[in-house]
Amino acid sequence: MTGRILVVDDQPLNVKLLEAKLTSEYYDVLTASDGPSAIEIATTERPDLILLDVMMPGMDGFEVCRRLRAEPSTMHIPIVMVTALSETEDRVVGLSSGADDFLTKPVEDLALLARVRSLLRFKVTFDELRLRLKAGAGSTDVDDILPDDTSPQRGRILLLEDFDSRARMINEALSESNEVTVERDDAEALRLADVSDFDVVIISLTLEDVDGLRVCSQLRSRPATRLVPILALVEEGDLEQLAKALDLGVTDYVMTPLDRNELIARVRTQVRRKHYQDRLRMNLEESVSAASMDELTRLHNRRYLVSHLAREFERAVENRKSLSLIILDVDHFKKVNDTHGHAVGDEVLAELARRMIECTRSSDLSARLGGEEFVVVMPDTTLAVAETVAERLRLGVSEASFAIPKSDLLIDVTISLGVAVNKGADDTPEDLLARADRALYRAKSEGRNRVACASEELLSSEA
Ligand code: GH3
Ligand code: MG
Ligand code: MG
Repeated sequence: MTGRILVVDDQPLNVKLLEAKLTSEYYDVLTASDGPSAIEIATTERPDLILLDVMMPGMDGFEVCRRLRAEPSTMHIPIVMVTALSETEDRVVGLSSGADDFLTKPVEDLALLARVRSLLRFKVTFDELRLRLKAGAGSTDVDDILPDDTSPQRGRILLLEDFDSRARMINEALSESNEVTVERDDAEALRLADVSDFDVVIISLTLEDVDGLRVCSQLRSRPATRLVPILALVEEGDLEQLAKALDLGVTDYVMTPLDRNELIARVRTQVRRKHYQDRLRMNLEESVSAASMDELTRLHNRRYLVSHLAREFERAVENRKSLSLIILDVDHFKKVNDTHGHAVGDEVLAELARRMIECTRSSDLSARLGGEEFVVVMPDTTLAVAETVAERLRLGVSEASFAIPKSDLLIDVTISLGVAVNKGADDTPEDLLARADRALYRAKSEGRNRVACASEELLSSEA
């Protein structure tokens, strides 16, 4: 995976060292030697990742980090703090100033590349989500969805650990701001992860009878847990195992013996990220459905109908299947509005939509074409069957009055329906809709509250 990395350090030699290591792995490297220029480059060049020295004269790394996090244009860039001090106190300060990770000088090659890879992967996922959200028809501004929630929810943590005293220590450390589930059995942990939505799964890689790495890989390969952040507990100095874990897609790690503060800080970072990701996804789903749904009836809208019909039409041609379509229109709907008001008219349309859903199969698509006109698209359905569905719809509407709860009204409603089926080689979705529409017009002119089929048309055009 390629990426552009900004290396910030006041010592030219340190910059050269990191630059050489990263360039040899085919990353593009930008450099800065102090805080203010780092911020400027980050703002103008938008690198994919920043390696940031902590100890710099003037503005130190923590301050740079805080400022980058405060700016919408740079707040999403992953930051790795590089520190000469191995004191965990510093790491914790780094993470709470907004850094995603830290490395200790002299920077160990494996740790460097593993971190870089994992953070770039994470950034790709986010950029993609944010782009899709921006491209969506929704009105939400993605930059309004902030990674740092001011009222953070509690995290849901699953811990797989069979070393009881360590499990207790972790549980105690994390319970203050998280719901922690401790599990010592790998199969049960996998089952739980499958059915519950955890924010972080912590996996010990020093389990008695089980290979923790195998559990990581299983989590990554299951659809339900593919994206869950995994925090691995790695034995101090076991770089080989750490490399394997990171290759499997483990999100982060903590070395044992555990440092309580570091553990808390790392879990907090993962939980915050996961919640941010969840919010992005939720907004994406909402904007997608808003673009394809009619708000009043909760049916699909015209825009969705047009693309769905085109797809179904093509599929029907390919598979040589019938595709039928009903257009229906409320009879004398204007009178409902005139008599009871527009709001009651709206209630009638919403109830009509509910009855349409009740009277059709789940493989049929009901949509609101506009106003008081609706469409049902029925794949793999002949005209004769479609006609019986239309008749069922007609009765479903006319046989029971519409109850309008807000105004205690009972209103009799009828609909007229036009039915058509696809035909010959030069047929198009537009023609199919037009034929159903002409049939509907006939149903209206012949007295309303009835079904008319485009069958005569079909016969006459084929004759
Ligand atoms: P016909 O039997 O010939 O279909 O008569 P109609 O009165 O139903 O048809 P017309 O097209 O004359 O009037 C449709 C009315 O539907 C007019 C319009 O104001 C009303 N309408 C369209 N959309 C909505 C809506 O979303 N809510 C409400 N309450 N009324 C709507
Ligand atoms: Mg009408
Ligand atoms: Mg109308």
